[in-house]
Amino acid sequence: MDDQTQKNCKICEKAWPLANHFIGALGLTDAYLFEDQFFPGWTVLVLKEHQTELFQLTQGERGQLMEEVSLVGENLTQVYSVRKINSELLGNQVPHIHWHVVPRLIADPAPLKPVWSVSHEPVRLTDKDLAERLRLLRGALRIS
Ligand SMILES: [Zn+2]
Repeated sequence: MDDQTQKNCKICEKAWPLANHFIGALGLTDAYLFEDQFFPGWTVLVLKEHQTELFQLTQGERGQLMEEVSLVGENLTQVYSVRKINSELLGNQVPHIHWHVVPRLIADPAPLKPVWSVSHEPVRLTDKDLAERLRLLRGALRIS
């Protein structure tokens, strides 16, 4: 394990996000479809390198990271009828820097609430629906 990975980190150990939900790689980040698709298009953008706070990055890396978060959000608006893009960096459960980029759709059941406080049954896509959604997002993100 090199110095850019860390033991007991779900992301460095490739335990999360789910490998079969991989959308594609950007410059500093890897994009995955979140395993719960109750909010359609919910994407997780994982920093390739193990860092836990924005201030640990160089100014250039922070700028590039924000470009990638912005790009994903913008491209999600090309796929879905979006009311608002939520971009969240929390890390309370998994400290390794990862952004949740969540398109909140026109049809969102609770548009005024953060996704975390919307009670719902998790939506797991079938293999067929997962493949279709990944294809859709890869096209929108222009990554393969
Ligand atoms: Zn890590």
